[in-house]
Amino acid sequence: MNNKTLTIIKPKALSDNCAGKILSTINANGFRIQAMRMMRLTRPQAEAFYSVHKDRPFFHDLVEFMTSGPIIAAILEKENAVEEYRKLIGSTNPDEAADETIRAMCGTNIQMNAVHGSDSDENAEQEANFFFSYAERF
Ligand code: ATP
Ligand code: MG
Repeated sequence: MNNKTLTIIKPKALSDNCAGKILSTINANGFRIQAMRMMRLTRPQAEAFYSVHKDRPFFHDLVEFMTSGPIIAAILEKENAVEEYRKLIGSTNPDEAADETIRAMCGTNIQMNAVHGSDSDENAEQEANFFFSYAERF
C-alpha cells in the first residue's frame, strides 16, 4: 500500500491560476489522478485536517489561509507515491525548494506554498478517506 498520496492545491495557487500547471506537472511525472474535487474547506474541516499542527504558532493563520478560498483535493497514484510526490513538490519553504519543483514554480511563501502532500502511507490513507468515498475514486 505505497501507491497513493493526497494532495491539496491551496487557495493562493488556485487564485494565481496555477492549478493547470500543477496538474499537468503531476501527470507529466507519472502520477494518475484517482479522485479530484474543487471545494472550500470549512473551519472545522481545516482544523481537523491540520490537527497535528494545533499547538504550533502558525496553526491559526494556517486555518485562516486554508479556508480563505477554494482548494482542489486529489488522490494521486504512483509507485512509492508519498516519497515521489514530496520530491516533486520540494521543500516546505518555496525559497528553499529546488528549481522545477511545484513549490518553486507556484509557491509564494512558507504558508502559501502551493500544495499539500501526505507525509506517510498511513496519513495518505487517512487523508484520502477524509476527502473521498469509495464511489468517488476511479
Ligand atoms: P504540507 O503538510 O502542507 O504538505 P509540509 O509537510 O511541507 O506541508 P508541515 O510542517 O506539515 O509542512 O506544515 C504544514 C503547513 O503549515 C505547510 O505546508 C505550510 O502551509 C504551513 N507552515 C508550516 N510551517 C510554517 C511556518 N513556519 N509559518 C507559516 N506556515 C507554516
Ligand atoms: Mg505536512
